[in-house]
Amino acid sequence: MNYQRSSALFDEAYKYIPGGVNSPVRAFKSVGGVPIFMKSAKGAYMTDVDDNQYIEYINSWGPAILGHTHPEVLEAIKKQAEKGFSYGTPTELETEIAKYIVENVPNIDQIRMVSSGTEACMSAIRLARGFTGRDKFIKFEGCYHGHSDSFLIKAGSGMATFGNPSSPGVTPGTAKDTLLAKYNNIEEVEDLFRHNQGEIAAIIVEPVAGNMGCVLPENNFLQNLRKLCDENGALLIFDEVMTGFRLAFGGAQELYNVKADIVTFGKVIGGGLPVGAFAARNEIMDHLAPKGAVYQAGTLSGNPLAMRAGLTTLQLIKSDENFYQKLNKSTETLDFEIGKILNQKSIPHRINRKGSMMSIFFHVNAVSNFDEAANANHALFNNFFHQLLEKGIYLPPSGFESWFISAAIKESEIDKTLEVIRKFEYS
Ligand code: PMP
Repeated sequence: MNYQRSSALFDEAYKYIPGGVNSPVRAFKSVGGVPIFMKSAKGAYMTDVDDNQYIEYINSWGPAILGHTHPEVLEAIKKQAEKGFSYGTPTELETEIAKYIVENVPNIDQIRMVSSGTEACMSAIRLARGFTGRDKFIKFEGCYHGHSDSFLIKAGSGMATFGNPSSPGVTPGTAKDTLLAKYNNIEEVEDLFRHNQGEIAAIIVEPVAGNMGCVLPENNFLQNLRKLCDENGALLIFDEVMTGFRLAFGGAQELYNVKADIVTFGKVIGGGLPVGAFAARNEIMDHLAPKGAVYQAGTLSGNPLAMRAGLTTLQLIKSDENFYQKLNKSTETLDFEIGKILNQKSIPHRINRKGSMMSIFFHVNAVSNFDEAANANHALFNNFFHQLLEKGIYLPPSGFESWFISAAIKESEIDKTLEVIRKFEYS
Protein backbone atom coordinates (compact mmCIF):
# COMPACT_ATOMS: atom_id res chain seq x y z
CA MET A 1 0.00 0.00 0.00
CA ASN A 2 1.01 3.56 -0.59
CA TYR A 3 1.05 5.80 2.50
CA GLN A 4 2.61 8.85 0.84
CA ARG A 5 0.05 11.41 1.91
CA SER A 6 -0.23 9.99 5.45
CA SER A 7 3.53 10.26 5.70
CA ALA A 8 3.55 13.89 4.54
CA LEU A 9 0.69 14.79 6.86
CA PHE A 10 2.44 13.18 9.81
CA ASP A 11 5.60 15.24 9.13
CA GLU A 12 3.48 18.37 9.04
CA ALA A 13 1.48 17.42 12.15
CA TYR A 14 4.71 16.70 14.01
CA LYS A 15 5.65 20.38 13.81
CA TYR A 16 2.46 21.64 15.44
CA ILE A 17 1.09 18.80 17.58
CA PRO A 18 3.21 17.01 20.24
CA GLY A 19 4.34 13.76 18.63
CA GLY A 20 2.02 14.55 15.71
CA VAL A 21 -1.08 13.20 17.46
CA ASN A 22 -3.72 14.27 19.94
CA SER A 23 -3.69 10.96 21.81
CA PRO A 24 -0.47 8.92 22.18
CA VAL A 25 -1.48 5.40 21.00
CA ARG A 26 -2.43 6.85 17.62
CA ALA A 27 1.24 7.51 16.88
CA PHE A 28 1.99 3.80 16.16
CA LYS A 29 4.88 4.10 18.62
CA SER A 30 4.70 0.51 19.82
CA VAL A 31 4.09 -1.12 16.41
CA GLY A 32 6.39 1.24 14.53
CA GLY A 33 5.83 2.95 11.18
CA VAL A 34 3.88 6.00 10.16
CA PRO A 35 0.40 6.50 11.61
CA ILE A 36 -2.31 6.46 9.00
CA PHE A 37 -4.41 9.56 8.54
CA MET A 38 -8.05 8.76 7.88
CA LYS A 39 -10.39 10.93 5.88
CA SER A 40 -13.69 9.09 6.17
CA ALA A 41 -15.41 6.09 7.70
CA LYS A 42 -18.64 4.28 6.93
CA GLY A 43 -20.03 1.03 8.28
CA ALA A 44 -17.23 -1.51 8.72
CA TYR A 45 -14.69 0.53 6.74
CA MET A 46 -12.32 3.46 7.08
CA THR A 47 -10.64 5.20 4.14
CA ASP A 48 -7.27 6.92 4.48
CA VAL A 49 -5.92 10.01 2.77
CA ASP A 50 -4.14 7.83 0.18
CA ASP A 51 -7.50 6.19 -0.67
CA ASN A 52 -6.64 2.85 0.96
CA GLN A 53 -9.62 1.12 2.54
CA TYR A 54 -9.57 -0.84 5.80
CA ILE A 55 -11.89 -3.24 7.57
CA GLU A 56 -12.07 -1.80 11.03
CA TYR A 57 -11.52 -3.54 14.37
CA ILE A 58 -11.05 -0.47 16.60
CA ASN A 59 -14.20 1.48 15.89
CA SER A 60 -12.90 4.67 17.41
CA TRP A 61 -11.73 2.63 20.42
CA GLY A 62 -15.25 1.42 21.11
CA PRO A 63 -17.90 4.08 20.43
CA ALA A 64 -18.79 2.99 16.88
CA ILE A 65 -20.58 -0.18 18.01
CA LEU A 66 -23.10 0.20 15.14
CA GLY A 67 -20.27 0.74 12.67
CA HIS A 68 -19.24 4.17 11.42
CA THR A 69 -21.58 6.98 10.46
CA HIS A 70 -24.80 5.03 10.97
CA PRO A 71 -27.42 6.78 8.78
CA GLU A 72 -29.99 7.20 11.57
CA VAL A 73 -27.44 8.60 14.02
CA LEU A 74 -26.17 10.95 11.32
CA GLU A 75 -29.69 12.17 10.60
CA ALA A 76 -30.40 12.71 14.30
CA ILE A 77 -27.19 14.76 14.73
CA LYS A 78 -28.01 16.89 11.67
CA LYS A 79 -31.52 17.64 12.91
CA GLN A 80 -30.23 18.53 16.36
CA ALA A 81 -27.46 20.73 14.93
CA GLU A 82 -30.05 22.88 13.16
CA LYS A 83 -31.44 23.80 16.58
CA GLY A 84 -28.11 24.99 17.96
CA PHE A 85 -24.84 23.40 19.04
CA SER A 86 -24.64 24.23 22.73
CA TYR A 87 -26.67 26.42 25.07
CA GLY A 88 -25.07 26.04 28.50
CA THR A 89 -28.59 25.71 29.93
CA PRO A 90 -30.60 22.65 30.91
CA THR A 91 -32.44 20.90 28.08
CA GLU A 92 -35.28 18.38 27.96
CA LEU A 93 -33.02 16.03 26.02
CA GLU A 94 -30.65 15.66 29.00
CA THR A 95 -33.49 14.39 31.19
CA GLU A 96 -34.64 12.10 28.38
CA ILE A 97 -31.27 10.37 28.07
CA ALA A 98 -30.73 10.30 31.86
CA LYS A 99 -34.12 8.64 32.40
CA TYR A 100 -33.48 6.18 29.59
CA ILE A 101 -30.11 5.11 31.03
CA VAL A 102 -31.34 4.95 34.63
CA GLU A 103 -34.24 2.74 33.53
CA ASN A 104 -31.99 0.39 31.60
CA VAL A 105 -28.88 0.04 33.77
CA PRO A 106 -29.09 -1.82 37.09
CA ASN A 107 -28.50 -0.18 40.48
CA ILE A 108 -28.41 3.48 39.44
CA ASP A 109 -30.90 6.25 40.26
CA GLN A 110 -29.14 9.33 38.86
CA ILE A 111 -26.53 10.02 36.22
CA ARG A 112 -24.27 13.03 35.56
CA MET A 113 -23.02 13.66 32.02
CA VAL A 114 -19.45 14.79 31.31
CA SER A 115 -17.38 14.95 28.12
CA SER A 116 -14.88 12.09 28.45
CA GLY A 117 -14.19 8.82 30.24
CA THR A 118 -11.34 10.55 32.08
CA GLU A 119 -13.70 13.09 33.59
CA ALA A 120 -16.17 10.36 34.50
CA CYS A 121 -13.59 8.29 36.41
CA MET A 122 -11.90 11.30 38.02
CA SER A 123 -15.28 12.53 39.25
CA ALA A 124 -16.31 9.06 40.44
CA ILE A 125 -13.23 8.90 42.68
CA ARG A 126 -13.89 12.39 44.04
CA LEU A 127 -17.48 11.45 44.77
CA ALA A 128 -16.42 8.20 46.49
CA ARG A 129 -13.98 10.18 48.65
CA GLY A 130 -16.60 12.80 49.46
CA PHE A 131 -19.17 10.15 50.33
CA THR A 132 -16.92 7.98 52.53
CA GLY A 133 -14.67 10.70 53.95
CA ARG A 134 -11.65 8.53 53.07
CA ASP A 135 -8.67 9.37 50.83
CA LYS A 136 -7.23 6.17 49.37
CA PHE A 137 -8.47 3.97 46.58
CA ILE A 138 -7.41 0.71 44.95
CA LYS A 139 -6.77 0.31 41.25
CA PHE A 140 -5.39 -2.63 39.32
CA GLU A 141 -2.14 -2.82 37.46
CA GLY A 142 -2.84 -2.67 33.72
CA CYS A 143 -6.27 -1.05 34.11
CA TYR A 144 -6.70 2.40 32.60
CA HIS A 145 -9.20 4.92 33.92
CA GLY A 146 -8.18 7.98 31.97
CA HIS A 147 -5.31 10.40 32.45
CA SER A 148 -6.30 12.08 35.69
CA ASP A 149 -3.21 12.32 37.97
CA SER A 150 -4.21 9.72 40.54
CA PHE A 151 -4.71 7.02 37.88
CA LEU A 152 -1.29 7.39 36.26
CA ILE A 153 0.43 5.22 38.80
CA LYS A 154 2.61 2.34 37.73
CA ALA A 155 2.61 -0.71 39.92
CA GLY A 156 5.80 -1.68 41.71
CA SER A 157 6.92 -5.28 41.50
CA GLY A 158 5.65 -7.76 44.07
CA MET A 159 2.76 -6.93 46.27
CA ALA A 160 1.97 -3.33 45.69
CA THR A 161 1.32 -1.05 48.57
CA PHE A 162 1.92 2.61 47.86
CA GLY A 163 2.15 3.78 44.27
CA ASN A 164 4.95 5.75 42.67
CA PRO A 165 4.30 8.34 40.01
CA SER A 166 4.78 6.80 36.60
CA SER A 167 4.29 10.04 34.71
CA PRO A 168 6.35 13.12 35.46
CA GLY A 169 3.96 15.72 36.77
CA VAL A 170 2.17 13.35 39.12
CA THR A 171 3.30 14.26 42.61
CA PRO A 172 4.26 11.66 45.24
CA GLY A 173 1.56 13.27 47.41
CA THR A 174 -1.06 12.26 44.86
CA ALA A 175 0.48 8.85 44.19
CA LYS A 176 0.44 7.79 47.82
CA ASP A 177 -3.35 7.57 47.85
CA THR A 178 -3.48 5.18 44.89
CA LEU A 179 -3.04 1.61 46.07
CA LEU A 180 -2.18 -1.04 43.51
CA ALA A 181 -3.04 -4.69 43.16
CA LYS A 182 -2.78 -7.24 40.39
CA TYR A 183 -5.89 -7.92 38.35
CA ASN A 184 -7.55 -11.19 39.38
CA ASN A 185 -5.52 -11.34 42.59
CA ILE A 186 -7.99 -11.06 45.46
CA GLU A 187 -5.35 -11.80 48.14
CA GLU A 188 -3.52 -8.58 47.25
CA VAL A 189 -6.75 -6.64 47.66
CA GLU A 190 -7.37 -8.29 51.05
CA ASP A 191 -3.86 -7.29 52.12
CA LEU A 192 -4.43 -3.68 51.07
CA PHE A 193 -7.60 -3.51 53.16
CA ARG A 194 -5.79 -5.13 56.10
CA HIS A 195 -2.95 -2.58 55.98
CA ASN A 196 -5.13 0.48 55.33
CA GLN A 197 -8.05 -0.10 57.64
CA GLY A 198 -10.74 2.58 57.49
CA GLU A 199 -8.76 4.54 54.87
CA ILE A 200 -9.93 3.09 51.55
CA ALA A 201 -12.78 4.96 49.86
CA ALA A 202 -13.19 2.72 46.83
CA ILE A 203 -11.98 0.08 44.46
CA ILE A 204 -12.08 1.08 40.80
CA VAL A 205 -11.96 -1.75 38.29
CA GLU A 206 -12.53 -2.45 34.62
CA PRO A 207 -14.96 -5.37 35.03
CA VAL A 208 -13.57 -6.77 31.81
CA ALA A 209 -10.21 -5.16 31.25
CA GLY A 210 -9.51 -3.80 27.79
CA ASN A 211 -6.39 -1.77 28.41
CA MET A 212 -3.83 -4.55 28.76
CA GLY A 213 -5.34 -6.32 25.79
CA CYS A 214 -8.60 -8.01 26.71
CA VAL A 215 -8.37 -9.67 30.13
CA LEU A 216 -11.36 -11.34 31.78
CA PRO A 217 -12.20 -11.49 35.49
CA GLU A 218 -11.62 -14.99 36.83
CA ASN A 219 -12.59 -17.04 39.88
CA ASN A 220 -15.43 -14.73 40.96
CA PHE A 221 -13.02 -11.81 41.07
CA LEU A 222 -15.79 -9.20 40.76
CA GLN A 223 -18.04 -10.93 43.32
CA ASN A 224 -15.12 -11.06 45.75
CA LEU A 225 -14.35 -7.37 45.25
CA ARG A 226 -18.00 -6.64 46.06
CA LYS A 227 -17.71 -8.68 49.23
CA LEU A 228 -14.50 -6.96 50.35
CA CYS A 229 -16.02 -3.51 49.72
CA ASP A 230 -19.06 -4.45 51.82
CA GLU A 231 -16.90 -5.79 54.65
CA ASN A 232 -14.73 -2.68 54.67
CA GLY A 233 -17.23 0.12 54.04
CA ALA A 234 -15.68 0.98 50.68
CA LEU A 235 -17.47 1.69 47.39
CA LEU A 236 -17.09 -0.49 44.32
CA ILE A 237 -16.64 1.54 41.14
CA PHE A 238 -17.15 -0.29 37.86
CA ASP A 239 -15.37 1.57 35.08
CA GLU A 240 -17.73 0.65 32.26
CA VAL A 241 -16.30 3.17 29.81
CA MET A 242 -15.52 0.23 27.51
CA THR A 243 -17.99 -2.40 28.69
CA GLY A 244 -21.08 -0.20 29.18
CA PHE A 245 -23.73 -0.96 26.51
CA ARG A 246 -21.14 -3.15 24.78
CA LEU A 247 -21.16 -6.40 26.74
CA ALA A 248 -24.86 -6.07 27.53
CA PHE A 249 -27.33 -3.18 27.64
CA GLY A 250 -26.94 -3.13 31.42
CA GLY A 251 -23.16 -3.55 31.07
CA ALA A 252 -20.95 -5.78 33.18
CA GLN A 253 -23.20 -5.36 36.23
CA GLU A 254 -25.93 -7.18 34.32
CA LEU A 255 -23.63 -9.70 32.68
CA TYR A 256 -21.88 -10.79 35.88
CA ASN A 257 -24.77 -10.03 38.20
CA VAL A 258 -22.56 -7.95 40.48
CA LYS A 259 -23.78 -4.68 41.92
CA ALA A 260 -21.49 -1.66 41.66
CA ASP A 261 -21.91 1.45 43.80
CA ILE A 262 -20.73 3.89 41.13
CA VAL A 263 -20.61 3.16 37.40
CA THR A 264 -18.68 5.20 34.84
CA PHE A 265 -19.47 5.36 31.15
CA GLY A 266 -17.98 6.72 27.93
CA LYS A 267 -17.54 5.57 24.33
CA VAL A 268 -20.84 3.87 23.25
CA ILE A 269 -22.90 6.23 25.41
CA GLY A 270 -21.84 9.11 23.14
CA GLY A 271 -22.34 7.35 19.82
CA GLY A 272 -19.00 8.75 18.58
CA LEU A 273 -19.30 12.26 20.03
CA PRO A 274 -17.34 13.29 23.14
CA VAL A 275 -19.31 11.97 26.12
CA GLY A 276 -18.67 10.37 29.48
CA ALA A 277 -20.96 9.86 32.47
CA PHE A 278 -21.04 8.55 36.02
CA ALA A 279 -24.00 7.20 37.90
CA ALA A 280 -24.95 5.78 41.29
CA ARG A 281 -27.87 5.41 43.67
CA ASN A 282 -29.52 8.51 45.17
CA GLU A 283 -27.73 8.26 48.50
CA ILE A 284 -24.36 8.71 46.72
CA MET A 285 -25.36 11.07 43.88
CA ASP A 286 -27.03 13.45 46.36
CA HIS A 287 -23.51 14.40 47.50
CA LEU A 288 -22.81 16.00 44.13
CA ALA A 289 -23.05 19.78 43.49
CA PRO A 290 -25.33 21.68 43.32
CA LYS A 291 -27.34 19.49 45.73
CA GLY A 292 -24.32 18.29 47.68
CA ALA A 293 -20.83 19.58 48.41
CA VAL A 294 -18.72 17.44 46.05
CA TYR A 295 -17.96 19.80 43.17
CA GLN A 296 -18.04 18.81 39.53
CA ALA A 297 -18.97 20.81 36.42
CA GLY A 298 -18.48 21.16 32.65
CA THR A 299 -19.07 23.84 29.97
CA LEU A 300 -20.10 21.26 27.38
CA SER A 301 -21.54 18.63 29.74
CA GLY A 302 -24.84 17.34 28.37
CA ASN A 303 -24.08 18.89 24.97
CA PRO A 304 -27.19 18.51 22.79
CA LEU A 305 -25.41 17.03 19.76
CA ALA A 306 -23.61 14.48 21.92
CA MET A 307 -26.79 13.62 23.85
CA ARG A 308 -28.73 13.12 20.61
CA ALA A 309 -26.00 10.93 19.08
CA GLY A 310 -25.79 8.88 22.27
CA LEU A 311 -29.52 8.46 22.79
CA THR A 312 -30.11 7.50 19.15
CA THR A 313 -27.30 4.94 19.32
CA LEU A 314 -28.68 3.40 22.51
CA GLN A 315 -32.22 3.29 21.08
CA LEU A 316 -30.99 1.59 17.90
CA ILE A 317 -29.18 -1.07 19.94
CA LYS A 318 -32.25 -1.64 22.10
CA SER A 319 -34.59 -1.86 19.10
CA ASP A 320 -32.87 -5.04 17.89
CA GLU A 321 -33.53 -7.74 20.44
CA ASN A 322 -30.81 -9.97 18.97
CA PHE A 323 -28.23 -7.17 18.80
CA TYR A 324 -25.72 -8.62 21.27
CA GLN A 325 -26.29 -12.18 20.14
CA LYS A 326 -25.30 -11.25 16.57
CA LEU A 327 -22.40 -9.04 17.63
CA ASN A 328 -21.02 -11.69 19.93
CA LYS A 329 -21.47 -14.38 17.28
CA SER A 330 -19.27 -12.43 14.80
CA THR A 331 -16.61 -12.07 17.48
CA GLU A 332 -16.85 -15.74 18.41
CA THR A 333 -16.39 -16.70 14.75
CA LEU A 334 -13.32 -14.48 14.50
CA ASP A 335 -11.88 -15.95 17.69
CA PHE A 336 -12.53 -19.54 16.65
CA GLU A 337 -11.36 -19.22 13.03
CA ILE A 338 -8.27 -17.12 13.81
CA GLY A 339 -7.38 -19.68 16.48
CA LYS A 340 -7.65 -22.46 13.92
CA ILE A 341 -5.40 -20.66 11.45
CA LEU A 342 -2.74 -19.83 14.06
CA ASN A 343 -2.81 -23.43 15.28
CA GLN A 344 -2.30 -24.70 11.74
CA LYS A 345 0.72 -22.42 11.53
CA SER A 346 1.91 -23.66 14.95
CA ILE A 347 2.01 -20.12 16.33
CA PRO A 348 1.64 -20.11 20.13
CA HIS A 349 -1.17 -17.78 21.04
CA ARG A 350 -4.05 -17.08 23.40
CA ILE A 351 -7.20 -15.30 22.34
CA ASN A 352 -9.12 -13.62 25.16
CA ARG A 353 -12.71 -12.69 24.38
CA LYS A 354 -15.83 -11.43 26.12
CA GLY A 355 -18.80 -10.40 24.03
CA SER A 356 -17.50 -8.16 21.26
CA MET A 357 -14.17 -7.40 22.95
CA MET A 358 -11.19 -9.60 22.15
CA SER A 359 -7.44 -9.63 21.67
CA ILE A 360 -4.68 -12.00 20.66
CA PHE A 361 -1.66 -12.57 22.85
CA PHE A 362 1.21 -14.40 21.22
CA HIS A 363 1.95 -16.37 24.34
CA VAL A 364 1.92 -20.03 25.36
CA ASN A 365 0.29 -19.33 28.71
CA ALA A 366 -3.09 -17.94 29.69
CA VAL A 367 -3.20 -14.17 30.24
CA SER A 368 -5.11 -12.98 33.29
CA ASN A 369 -3.13 -9.96 34.49
CA PHE A 370 -0.76 -7.24 33.32
CA ASP A 371 2.49 -9.15 33.92
CA GLU A 372 1.25 -12.04 31.81
CA ALA A 373 0.07 -9.66 29.11
CA ALA A 374 3.48 -7.96 29.13
CA ASN A 375 5.22 -11.33 28.77
CA ALA A 376 3.48 -12.06 25.47
CA ASN A 377 5.50 -11.76 22.27
CA HIS A 378 4.76 -8.15 21.35
CA ALA A 379 7.30 -8.09 18.52
CA LEU A 380 5.25 -10.83 16.87
CA PHE A 381 2.05 -8.85 17.45
CA ASN A 382 3.65 -5.85 15.74
CA ASN A 383 4.58 -8.03 12.76
CA PHE A 384 1.03 -9.42 12.66
CA PHE A 385 -0.40 -5.88 12.86
CA HIS A 386 1.68 -4.62 9.93
CA GLN A 387 1.03 -7.62 7.69
CA LEU A 388 -2.71 -7.21 8.25
CA LEU A 389 -2.59 -3.44 7.81
CA GLU A 390 -0.82 -3.83 4.49
CA LYS A 391 -3.74 -5.98 3.33
CA GLY A 392 -6.46 -3.60 4.55
CA ILE A 393 -7.24 -4.94 8.02
CA TYR A 394 -6.98 -2.29 10.74
CA LEU A 395 -6.26 -3.62 14.24
CA PRO A 396 -5.45 -1.55 17.32
CA PRO A 397 -1.80 -0.51 16.96
CA SER A 398 -0.69 -2.21 20.18
CA GLY A 399 -0.82 -5.65 21.76
CA PHE A 400 -2.07 -3.97 24.95
CA GLU A 401 -5.40 -2.90 23.45
CA SER A 402 -8.69 -4.67 23.00
CA TRP A 403 -10.30 -5.02 19.57
CA PHE A 404 -13.87 -3.71 19.34
CA ILE A 405 -16.12 -5.51 16.90
CA SER A 406 -18.98 -3.51 15.38
CA ALA A 407 -22.39 -4.61 14.16
CA ALA A 408 -21.35 -3.49 10.67
CA ILE A 409 -18.84 -6.36 10.44
CA LYS A 410 -20.62 -9.05 8.43
CA GLU A 411 -19.64 -12.45 7.09
CA SER A 412 -17.92 -10.97 4.04
CA GLU A 413 -15.65 -8.77 6.19
CA ILE A 414 -14.86 -11.70 8.47
CA ASP A 415 -14.05 -13.91 5.47
CA LYS A 416 -11.77 -11.25 4.02
CA THR A 417 -10.02 -10.87 7.39
CA LEU A 418 -9.48 -14.62 7.72
CA GLU A 419 -8.18 -14.81 4.16
CA VAL A 420 -5.52 -12.22 5.03
CA ILE A 421 -4.60 -13.99 8.28
CA ARG A 422 -4.19 -17.28 6.37
CA LYS A 423 -1.40 -15.55 4.44
CA PHE A 424 0.33 -14.30 7.59
CA GLU A 425 4.02 -15.15 7.31
CA TYR A 426 5.55 -16.24 10.56
CA SER A 427 9.28 -16.52 10.72
N1 PMP B 1 -11.77 4.10 31.35
C1 PMP B 1 -11.55 3.13 30.45
C2 PMP B 1 -11.85 1.73 30.83
C3 PMP B 1 -11.06 3.44 29.19
O1 PMP B 1 -10.83 2.46 28.33
C4 PMP B 1 -10.79 4.79 28.87
C5 PMP B 1 -10.27 5.20 27.51
N2 PMP B 1 -9.91 4.24 26.64
C6 PMP B 1 -11.04 5.76 29.83
C7 PMP B 1 -11.53 5.39 31.05
C8 PMP B 1 -10.79 7.21 29.54
O2 PMP B 1 -11.70 7.69 28.60
P1 PMP B 1 -11.38 8.97 27.69
O3 PMP B 1 -10.30 8.56 26.76
O4 PMP B 1 -12.69 9.25 27.00
O5 PMP B 1 -10.97 10.06 28.60
